Amino acid sequence: MLMTGIYIHIPFCKKVCYYCDFHFTVSFKQKGALIEALISEIELQKDYLNTGEIDTIYFGGGTPSVLSIVEIGGILQKINTQYTISNAAEITLEANPDDISPQYLQELRQLGVNRLSIGVQSFFDEDLKWMNRRHNSTEAEYSIKLSQDIGFSNINVDLIYGLPQLSNERWNQNLLTFIDLKVPHLSAYHLTIEPKTVFGYYKRKGRLTEIDEDMSLQHYKMLIESMKSADYEHYEISNFCKDKLYSQHNTNYWKQGHYLGIGPSAHSYNGSSRQWNTSVNSDYINAIKEGTAFSEIEQLSDKDRFNDYLLTGLRTIWGIDLEVVRNTYGLAYFKHVEKELQRFLNSSYLRIEDQKVYLTEQGMFISDKIISELMFV
Ligand code: SF4
Repeated sequence: MLMTGIYIHIPFCKKVCYYCDFHFTVSFKQKGALIEALISEIELQKDYLNTGEIDTIYFGGGTPSVLSIVEIGGILQKINTQYTISNAAEITLEANPDDISPQYLQELRQLGVNRLSIGVQSFFDEDLKWMNRRHNSTEAEYSIKLSQDIGFSNINVDLIYGLPQLSNERWNQNLLTFIDLKVPHLSAYHLTIEPKTVFGYYKRKGRLTEIDEDMSLQHYKMLIESMKSADYEHYEISNFCKDKLYSQHNTNYWKQGHYLGIGPSAHSYNGSSRQWNTSVNSDYINAIKEGTAFSEIEQLSDKDRFNDYLLTGLRTIWGIDLEVVRNTYGLAYFKHVEKELQRFLNSSYLRIEDQKVYLTEQGMFISDKIISELMFV
């Protein structure tokens, strides 16, 4: 069954991580005005979703844990006045390890936040410093243990691999530390050097060389092997969990569920259109105050929706369903996939079973290539 989610973008960070390409600012001058605008936007957008019931709420950023409990509570309260938040709703807050204190965690729980996503990235100080993260390895471990002690059982940790100086031994140690901490969910991403980041600048100046493909692959294989041997389910290319504690919010994206994105740069999808807000904070605040446009909208064609289905579905253990392709997107798309799949029939990249298509582990290593070959252009 499809779910419905709300994403809240908090575009503030205390420090610039050198690899970061998300929308954020380190100036907190407009924080109060921006939160007021977010709260107004929740009401302005109340008709975007075709439902009154919300299954997942996700505070992302930026760094949502720079918000006070009163600010988070105010946003949740506003959502509550416009929608019915399902009793079983997953409410996630992304947190930086050094923002976490016993009182903050207890109060988050009282507000109904029931999932934490902790931006650890590495359990080694030298890597954290190199990325210009603001926490250290002691704070990383402490924040996880504290969250568990306070009663959060649904926790995600983010880790980054593919750093040029990250030896296999150190990456392995990061994975072992994660496993020892008994956290039920891991999101592990390969470092990518985006042009508009500090690392992008370093790369242009010849001060940073990216890891080679062999090493990348070794890191990814180590990730998969370690998680498998510790009984984590590899349910999406970069995501692993225990006890079926899938990220409900992200799974909703991958399964074509509808979602409303609130805040600068946030994206929304309601089955027929996609819309995205301006990523200039002051434009966003002013437009909301003045009642003018702050987002762009795109009506989706069947081709767009079909390609999205491939792109997101094949990343997950749920794969794509050829019956859904035929019934939802039409015969032309069904025939297209059938034809394109022929060339993979004897490959070790895809598995086809009961009209469903899945990427194999081998296929996950080259997922972008495979998915782009199956897309309708
Ligand atoms: S805390 Fe997150 S959003 Fe902020 S700069 Fe670092 S990676 Fe980017």
